[in-house]
Amino acid sequence: MSLLVLGTVAFDTIETPYGKADRIIGGAGTYIAWAASHFYNDIKMLSVIGDDFPQAELDALSARGVDMEGVEVREGEKSFFWAGRYHNNMISRDTLVTELNVLETYEPTLPEAYRDVDYLMLGNFAPAVQMQVINQLPKRPKLVVMDTMNFWMDIAMDELKAVLPKVDVLTINDEEARQLSGEHSLVKAARVIREMGPKYLVIKKGEHGALLFHGSDIFFVPGLPLEEVFDPTGAGDSFAGGFIGHLAKTGDFSFANMKRALVYGSVVASYCVEKFGPTKLKEVTPETVKARTEEFLKLMHVSID
Ligand code: AMP
Repeated sequence: MSLLVLGTVAFDTIETPYGKADRIIGGAGTYIAWAASHFYNDIKMLSVIGDDFPQAELDALSARGVDMEGVEVREGEKSFFWAGRYHNNMISRDTLVTELNVLETYEPTLPEAYRDVDYLMLGNFAPAVQMQVINQLPKRPKLVVMDTMNFWMDIAMDELKAVLPKVDVLTINDEEARQLSGEHSLVKAARVIREMGPKYLVIKKGEHGALLFHGSDIFFVPGLPLEEVFDPTGAGDSFAGGFIGHLAKTGDFSFANMKRALVYGSVVASYCVEKFGPTKLKEVTPETVKARTEEFLKLMHVSID
């Protein structure tokens, strides 16, 4: 009943109006695995790093129960590096540097134990690599969730569109939804994108929450108003991790349960932004997750008689 997570394991340099963090641990895969581990404990990580990546970070994920056999370490090469600068609104950001390094020539080979998985989380990665992972699985997982970003839309749109028919749920942010669909209205964009393949679409809107589209149904979860946001990096990945973690734990892919998954994704994303890097995701306990979930439900509840 494993959950296979593909995603970058990386170094990030992050600048916000409130401070700068140099070469901290990041990567979509890192955030997804930490976030999902709050809900599900049979996770297998697939990624590639150079010999510059700290062993202690890999050990921390192993100690958390994440199988790291599929993380390839390339001797003499450098890990993926990304640098970004957030604007004053702490939502929009400019990518300053994307050094693919080990990603440039990466062709994943799934370890034997990774071939029989029930859930697949295709985290942000080159679409061609996401496709190679799908193609190596002898049987289709029960649920395939995919995340991607504007970077890949800019340089690999055709490859990206080739993966979409293979996924059940796509998670992207509002600007990416507009870029992918060519539509400004998110309702129209959601229709166009679902015609490309995924039956479910999640559009993330940063601190303004997230929307779930399926058939003619739409569900919305707000962002939790937080006193302080230190670093929004990885919020989208944490969201995806919490979302699929809950679905893997319950094995229920109904719209009603996807709505719950949207809440859990938002809960872990709200923790992610409270400290630089994945630090806070490592600290939270099941009790705090439960308490924050209740805060979310309170925020969403209204009775009108
Ligand atoms: P998010 O803030 O959820 O969009 O995710 C940010 C994380 O994605 C950072 O930790 C980066 O290392 C990673 N990242 C940035 N650009 C890319 C890319 N082009 N492909 C894969 N991962 C990326």
